[in-house]
Amino acid sequence: MNVAVVGTGYVGLVTGAVFADLGNDVICVDKDRTKIDMLERGEMPLYEPGLEEMVHRNAGDGRLRFTTDLACTVRRSDIIFIAVGTPPQANGESDLSAVEEVALGIADVLDRYKVIVNKSTVPVGTGDMVRDLICRNRRRPVEFDVVSNPEFLREGSAIEDTLRPDRIVVGVPNQQVAVTLLELYAPLERPMIITDVHSAEMIKYASNAFLATKISFVNAIASICEQAGADVTQVAKGMGLDARIGAAFLQPGLGYGGSCFPKDTESLIQTAGRFGYDFSLLRAVVDVNREQTVRFVSLMRKVLDPLEGRVVGVLGLAFKPKTDDMREARSVEVIRALVQGGASVRAYDPAAIANARAILPAAVEYCPSPYEAASGADAVAVVTEWNEFKLLNLERLRGLMRRPLVFDGRNVYEPGRMRRLRFEYYSVGRGPVFPG
Ligand code: NAD
Repeated sequence: MNVAVVGTGYVGLVTGAVFADLGNDVICVDKDRTKIDMLERGEMPLYEPGLEEMVHRNAGDGRLRFTTDLACTVRRSDIIFIAVGTPPQANGESDLSAVEEVALGIADVLDRYKVIVNKSTVPVGTGDMVRDLICRNRRRPVEFDVVSNPEFLREGSAIEDTLRPDRIVVGVPNQQVAVTLLELYAPLERPMIITDVHSAEMIKYASNAFLATKISFVNAIASICEQAGADVTQVAKGMGLDARIGAAFLQPGLGYGGSCFPKDTESLIQTAGRFGYDFSLLRAVVDVNREQTVRFVSLMRKVLDPLEGRVVGVLGLAFKPKTDDMREARSVEVIRALVQGGASVRAYDPAAIANARAILPAAVEYCPSPYEAASGADAVAVVTEWNEFKLLNLERLRGLMRRPLVFDGRNVYEPGRMRRLRFEYYSVGRGPVFPG
């Protein structure tokens, strides 16, 4: 099929590469000329394991092309995926201006029947809005369908998630267009849910809100464990083995970040409000998430008192491992608070340093290794659970530090081991460890 993907971010670029890999003729469009220039030179504008190889292979075989020309791309395509950003507005609602802009661009050149698929995460009713916008602005009275096909990939495993998703959700206005989507996705041989557009739009938000709820739930349990002398790791394990609960998303820590959960929870709260429902449960989830970082920083302040003049090594900047994405990363709040409190920050991340420089305070010193970040530090704070940190030589790390003090915001280390290694060690939902 002739496929267009508009937006070459984490979702659009991966989607385009995978559709090309399945044998389709794909053009990826972005309005960001720098990104398209990079892609045309064979450079990746973002870090995602396996993506570069897949892009090179399909571009080399002529199945995957890149352009800034939306009009030409729409004309030659049968099916157009919208995968542009839908960032939060100040009031928590989703900013749909990029989706609207693309819809208007499509309307302007619509010359024959096309399927327009919304892959961006958008509030229920956006499919109707896109349909109306195109109807009102098309130059010729040609038919088209608007489909909702929300994306569930996770950054860091986006290729694998796109090739082998748990399910593919497709919200369609009629059966004919469902067949087109079934054909496109058939080679993946994965479970497909064919439903109406509104339900598909809601499935995405309900799923992300539920996952965020699991995270905040276990973090709330962790807070009680800390006071009660229980070990949240054991508690989560005991809960997770119950098949009705499941172990996924029950890892306590600094809370969720990234470009999806924070904005999608806020957006669903706003959507619920528009329909007259006060989603107080989800508001509590957001509050618990926010408190996790506040609690972590206040613990650091208390233990390091005074913070002023201290050196803190921060391990991990990206919002989660295996990505360079800094959007809503917990590291931002932690580091800002440390710098505001007068501490010097030495930071290390395997992939996100370039993106971090643009966001974090200028005073942050970036280090080429975790050991250099820990050198001369009064404390190390683990903020992202990269595998690399689990495998550190902790004896070497301790030897480099001024004080053997670790704040583990992701429960990367085992308290018994930290005690044996004579660290003073604080984690989430487990009692503190003191040397000796
Ligand atoms: P992104 O910010 O990485 O990429 C969006 C791209 O769209 C950018 O390259 C931008 O230049 C481009 N763009 C914006 N307006 C455009 C326009 N008018 N014409 C052409 N290109 C335009 O975003 P992302 O992380 O890929 O997310 C895209 C959507 O998918 C969002 O709605 C997001 O919520 C959703 N989503 C993201 C993830 C994820 O893990 N990142 C997972 C599932 C769903």
